[in-house]
Amino acid sequence: MAGEAQPDCLFCKIVAGEIPATVVRETQRTVAFRDINPQAPTHVLVIPKVHYPNAAALAAAEPEITAQLLIEAARVAEDEKIDGHGYRMIFNTGAGAGQTVFHAHLHVLGGVQLREGLV
Ligand code: C5P
Repeated sequence: MAGEAQPDCLFCKIVAGEIPATVVRETQRTVAFRDINPQAPTHVLVIPKVHYPNAAALAAAEPEITAQLLIEAARVAEDEKIDGHGYRMIFNTGAGAGQTVFHAHLHVLGGVQLREGLV
C-alpha cells in the first residue's frame, strides 16, 4: 500500500523507534531529528512518518504532508534560532542528486554563512 513502512528503510526504523535519533520536533505525521553527520552547525532532517522514496513521490501522493514538512522546517529554524540569518532547505531527489536514503526527507541547514550557488 502507498506510504506503508518498508522493513529495510532506515528512516522508517527511526519513525518506529527501532533506531535511535535525536528528535527535535514531532507531529502526528512528521519527525525532525539531527543529522548523524552534520554539514552545518544546525543540520536537521524533517521526514514524513509515511514512506515514500523521495519528495516528488511524496508530493504526488500526499501534498498536505509535503507542505507540513516545509512548515516544520521553518519551526525548526525558529527553535534553533537560525531563521534570522537565513538557512537552506534541500530535498535531494535521486541518486544523481546525492540522495542516499530513499525515504523522503528535507534537510534544514544553517548556523553558518552558507556559500552561494547550488552545485
Ligand atoms: O539526502 P541524503 O539521502 O544524502 O541524506 C541522508 C542523510 O541522512 C545524510 O545526511 C546522513 O548523514 C543522514 N543519516 C542520519 N541518520 C542515519 C543515517 C543517515 O541522519 N542513521
